[in-house]
Amino acid sequence: MVTEQAEVMVVTPHPDDAEYGVAGTVARWTREGKNVIYVVCTNGDKGTSDANVKPDKLARIRGREQMAAARLLGVREVTFLRHPDQSLEDTPGFRKEIVRLIRIYRPETVVTADPYRRYIWHRDHRITGQVTLDAVFPYARDSLAYPDLLQEGLEPHKVREVLLWASEEPNYRCDITDTFDIKLAALRCHKSQVGDDLSPDLRKWLVQRAKDNAQGEDYELAEAFHRVEIKW
Ligand SMILES: [Zn+2]
Repeated sequence: MVTEQAEVMVVTPHPDDAEYGVAGTVARWTREGKNVIYVVCTNGDKGTSDANVKPDKLARIRGREQMAAARLLGVREVTFLRHPDQSLEDTPGFRKEIVRLIRIYRPETVVTADPYRRYIWHRDHRITGQVTLDAVFPYARDSLAYPDLLQEGLEPHKVREVLLWASEEPNYRCDITDTFDIKLAALRCHKSQVGDDLSPDLRKWLVQRAKDNAQGEDYELAEAFHRVEIKW
């Protein structure tokens, strides 16, 4: 059976990162009828300042929160790889998981965290970005890369572009003026991270960042990315 193609694959290190990075754009895409899927690399079981929460309970809560946010944004499917939080490494196994999903869903666009932020950056974000870029090129594309995947019927696939969020060198913006409220609503689903509602400070920061991203454009609010076009 061939899985229906998804035009966009979002690879997020933890539940909630995609909402900060790309939710406004995702909501736009799904409104336009694009098929978007999420891949969530870790279970987020260390993402709390509350020392009394048990990791397995937190992982279950965060999985449910991610599903709620994805539903709100019109995301078609969410795949949970369930790696423990703060444990991602650039391994052949992790890379192959991403290659497999790229070959199953055959996306034109892959979105993930920019691995090239300097200095302080969550290791899971850096590793997710790097492994995803490597999976896109050359591993998902090359027929000799994984003979066993080919035997399973997973043909090589060429991704057209990668968008990296949280980039220090953004070169691409997406107008999210009409979908900013949905982005905030999706972030609100992550109650274990943001509380019962977004704090005034967080909301202010999100608005300011979206305004800064739209500077010089004829719209008010934007998400910004480093866009890499894959020509080979
Ligand atoms: Zn994260």
